[in-house]
Amino acid sequence: MPELPEVETTVRGLIRYLEGERIARLTLNRQDLRRPFPEGLVQAMTGATVTTLGRRAKYGLIHIDRGSTMIFHLGMSGRWRIEPSQIEKHDHLVLETGSGHVLALNDARRFGSVDLVDTAALDSWPPFAAIGPEPLGDGLTPRHLQQAFAARIAPIKQLLLDQRIVAGLGNIYVCEALHRAGIRPDKEAGAVSLAALKRLVPAIQEVLTESIAAGGSTIRDYAQPSGELGYFASAWQVYGREGDPCACGSPVQRFVQGGRSTFWCAKCQK
Ligand SMILES: [Zn+2]
Repeated sequence: MPELPEVETTVRGLIRYLEGERIARLTLNRQDLRRPFPEGLVQAMTGATVTTLGRRAKYGLIHIDRGSTMIFHLGMSGRWRIEPSQIEKHDHLVLETGSGHVLALNDARRFGSVDLVDTAALDSWPPFAAIGPEPLGDGLTPRHLQQAFAARIAPIKQLLLDQRIVAGLGNIYVCEALHRAGIRPDKEAGAVSLAALKRLVPAIQEVLTESIAAGGSTIRDYAQPSGELGYFASAWQVYGREGDPCACGSPVQRFVQGGRSTFWCAKCQK
């Protein structure tokens, strides 16, 4: 499932093909993904020029010169195929640029989505209005977490996965960041000290930044028809490593929390 670093890497990969380009054609090969494609999408995009691209949480943003933004979410299985040799069954939306680039949004399971929103109103678009600060932006601070966690008895890991508190953090990154910061995943959020939160914020940012950097190095894969960005599993300290020794020598443990696996080290995380 594409997480924030994969979406960021996707957006960076798309920039070189789309930024400053005119959209010569947008083709929809079906009516919907998780929900219908927006009405008027083809008309809005055709002939428009892409000004910039961006990301908010796990959404990719394609801004056009007509004051609107095409927003895509990759769901469980979505990916952009760049210069595909032929259009395949799950290429549901295809963009062709004025200089001849072809980009296909492929989504076999169709949990993804595409929306068209006025650029000036993006912050009040309901999915964005409800979410917390970007983990790599200035809004994620130890004080922000302290306020969000105040008096909360839920485990810190659960609250870090809550998009209203921090945007776009997934299970892997939360496990890794808590390990790096030395915080037990099941610790009551309201009881985590400010000192620990001061370790946690940079830990979150480092884990994400390193993953984006690793993704950037494999970005060429996107140009392959079969190209799909995977996780960079060798870099994980605890995620998916139950029973393996942590760097401290103690075995990595796993338990299920809120229906999802949590990996952690009982010696390093207090
Ligand atoms: Zn350890």
